[in-house]
Amino acid sequence: MQKITIAKGDGIGPEIMNATLSILLAAGAQIEFDEIKIGEKVYLSGNSSGIDQAAWQSIRNNKILLKAPITTPQGGGYKSLNVSIRKTLGLYANVRPCKSMYPFVQTKHPEMDVVIIRENEEDLYGGIEHQQTDEVVQCLKLISRPGCERIVRYAFEYAKQYGRKKVTCFVKDNIMKQTDGLFHKVFNEVALEYPDIISQHLIVDIGAAKLANSPHLFDVIVMPNLYGDILSDVAAEITGSVGLAGSSNIGTSCAMFEAIHGSAPDIAGKNIANPSGLIQAAILMLNHIGQNDVATKIQNAWLSTIEDGIHTADIYTAELSKEKVGTAEFAAAVIEHLGKTPQKLSAVNYANGITITIPPYQRKKRAEKLLTGIDVFVDWQGYNPNELANLLQQINTTCLSLTMITNRGTKVWPHGFDETFCTDHWRCRFYSNNHEQIQKKDIIQILTNAEALGIDVIKTENLYTFNGVRGFSLGQGE
Ligand code: NAD
Repeated sequence: MQKITIAKGDGIGPEIMNATLSILLAAGAQIEFDEIKIGEKVYLSGNSSGIDQAAWQSIRNNKILLKAPITTPQGGGYKSLNVSIRKTLGLYANVRPCKSMYPFVQTKHPEMDVVIIRENEEDLYGGIEHQQTDEVVQCLKLISRPGCERIVRYAFEYAKQYGRKKVTCFVKDNIMKQTDGLFHKVFNEVALEYPDIISQHLIVDIGAAKLANSPHLFDVIVMPNLYGDILSDVAAEITGSVGLAGSSNIGTSCAMFEAIHGSAPDIAGKNIANPSGLIQAAILMLNHIGQNDVATKIQNAWLSTIEDGIHTADIYTAELSKEKVGTAEFAAAVIEHLGKTPQKLSAVNYANGITITIPPYQRKKRAEKLLTGIDVFVDWQGYNPNELANLLQQINTTCLSLTMITNRGTKVWPHGFDETFCTDHWRCRFYSNNHEQIQKKDIIQILTNAEALGIDVIKTENLYTFNGVRGFSLGQGE
């Protein structure tokens, strides 16, 4: 008997969780449930994290969480609990299989069978945001080598173990050369270790277009967090409904299983939600905890139910469906189908449980890191960059001189264009006069000089080279 933590969540959460639990119990899953309360009620009771210590303890003890969707209250002050759970428990791999059920569920893409593997801990989801001037706010995008190595290796291991042929990487490294560039670089490195698996890279915009139009071209797709979040919803929706897909969030010690959709407040309490996403999540969970026979039984029953045309409203069509049912009735139909195998859709047999383990990250030898300059960000209310440059050149030191000013990344000095629109947020680059290493005290001198002239410095970024390679991007037009 395995004890797991469950959370019924908000909106349609309790309905789809009750439906899923009834199927798990009827199928003979060897599971005991430890229920925790998380989400909207906890947020609104004054706990801005949406989860209390007892709930954390239950998840950490049981190591497995089956979670229905939760509502994140809109507006400031509330952090997304989903993101907090994923990051706090180190659930680095978010796996989202999206498969068409053609000809039983209406879809433009009958051949679709894609698994999206989304990095789950970093990228813009650090939620590190600051307002720096009247006009400009900032969100930090953090991408780490350990984060990239773990998720890319997980994707290739997944492909290898599940007999999939190709892994595609989507990034935007033509623009974000450092962050997405690192993800792409690590992808190329890890791909070399898997010569039997085809590796492919696409810029995320054309990749997304091709995924939406020709998903049969893809097999496993690995992406940084934000692109994976967006495109896995697209992928699930084009199989037939966002309500069909489940996901696993895998870490080294804990794992969380959930539907990919949200709490759907528009249809909550009406017994019309499709519980399939959470049922699929529960099947992923059963496989994860080694109850593969029960997982097989439920998946074949679910496929048979879909094949028999017993459909919830989101996938019901007069041509393909036989019966439109509610959430509870759909679960009852799956229970009735336990023991059956689908006739046309491929039956599954998860007899051989698959566990994917990734070796712990080995920190590389430190690079030679040289400090060669500083970007000083200033809040300046003027409009003419030449005026700002005149002011800033007064703070040059014997080591550091102003070499460039950008506004939202576009070079406006020297030789800027009058056409470039400027806000009150200026990035001013001071670079080593002889292109050699400078000291922290040289930076302090620049800041002291700026302070003396009344320049409003809002933040600084050190400029480094690593083993002689520039570790910062150029300005647009530089
Ligand atoms: P949503 O996924 O809840 O709903 C989008 C649309 O899909 C709605 O029209 C909804 O009715 C429909 N839909 C979703 N699930 C369905 C199902 N099982 N059956 C039938 N139709 C279904 O997205 P949203 O409206 O943007 O978000 C609502 C709330 O959910 C927000 O508070 C958001 O923060 C939260 N959310 C939670 C999670 C999570 O807990 N993992 C994920 C995404 C969004």
